Amino acid sequence: MTQPKKSVQTALIHSDYTAPPGFAAFPTAIHHASTVLFKDVASLRSRNWQDKNAYTYGLHGTPTTFTLEARLAAIEGGNHCLLAPSGLAAIAMVDLALLRTGDDVLIPDNVYNPNREMGRWLEKDFGITARFYDPLIGAGIAELIQPNTRLIWTEAPGSVSMEVPDVPAICAVARGRREQGQDILVAIDNTWAAGLAFPAFDHGVDIVMQALTKYQSGGSDVLMGAVITRDKALIHRIEMAHMRLGMGVSADDAYLVMRGLPTMKMRFEAHDAGARKVAAWLKQRPEIATVLHPAFEDCPGHDIWKRDFTGAGGLFSVIFDERYSEAQTDAFIDSLRLFKIGYSWGGANSLCVPYRMQAMRWHWPHQGQLVRFNIGLEAPDDLIADIEQALAGLAS
Ligand SMILES: *Cc1c(COP(=O)(O)O)cnc(C)c1O
Repeated sequence: MTQPKKSVQTALIHSDYTAPPGFAAFPTAIHHASTVLFKDVASLRSRNWQDKNAYTYGLHGTPTTFTLEARLAAIEGGNHCLLAPSGLAAIAMVDLALLRTGDDVLIPDNVYNPNREMGRWLEKDFGITARFYDPLIGAGIAELIQPNTRLIWTEAPGSVSMEVPDVPAICAVARGRREQGQDILVAIDNTWAAGLAFPAFDHGVDIVMQALTKYQSGGSDVLMGAVITRDKALIHRIEMAHMRLGMGVSADDAYLVMRGLPTMKMRFEAHDAGARKVAAWLKQRPEIATVLHPAFEDCPGHDIWKRDFTGAGGLFSVIFDERYSEAQTDAFIDSLRLFKIGYSWGGANSLCVPYRMQAMRWHWPHQGQLVRFNIGLEAPDDLIADIEQALAGLAS
């Protein structure tokens, strides 16, 4: 039977041509889709959106996003992964999946500040208590856990003040409560270690969150987050929030993140080496009171970092000597040339940001100004020379 001849208007939309099969190349293909096609009604009726061996709708996954999820789970030592449009969206998804009115969540006092804001919002408008704990509390977390505590957030280390928490001790306490029948889980914001320098699942964590915006992307050009678990039932709980909230990511963005993965470990090691060199130089400067870098002894939790971590990365902070005012350290940052001023990290460019710690923390022991450095991939000696010329301005 011959097909009726199509008008141009229809031919613009329907084409009989399909490219030959058998194309092979290294990059994962970018599949753009809202609508996903079913071959017949029976397959439409039988497919389940939660089945990662089938496709139902762009929001629930394409070959591009499934491939990125599988690769991230493998890097982290987990089994299941969900993508979110930003790291913060991934944090919110975990909270909304696991917390209900009347529940309690524990959050470290040094947490990524928007996570703190999320906790405050849960408390103000959702009838969930959010309590902030000393990041160095370790096994002392036991005294804070209530019968209604459902979730303990950790961040290792806190990405501004750099205290390294005893995550295994916190997880051991939570596991003990679980064995007594309490529904309580431990989540980690593992962005600092990129899933490379801290094997969170091996240390007992239930849920890993990553801001892929940082090292995974490496390009300072994309926002994305991920939630990873080992446990299938747990990822299904989080997947319900993922579906209900409509947490889609664009195929182009997923591709950009994937493009960064092959070089991530080498970039991370280069950031790490550069940061240690710059931090060591800063440590012997009279303008600097304290270097907050987990690999340095001044850093609270340094012994835990040595015990549990295999590397560091490019991020650290310094506390200036008390004699320098905020206006002076602001002028220091303004006079840097290679270091740019801006949030985020994990890209090739070095960045520098001041933080007002007294306003961010319940308890903050230092008087001097805190300045955070993100060491990019420039030659460390050039970065040191840049800091040196900016410090020279500070003295005058
Ligand atoms: C950047 C960051 C996030 C959030 O990631 P976005 O993609 O910017 O929302 C969360 N946690 C930490 C530690 C981060 O550095």
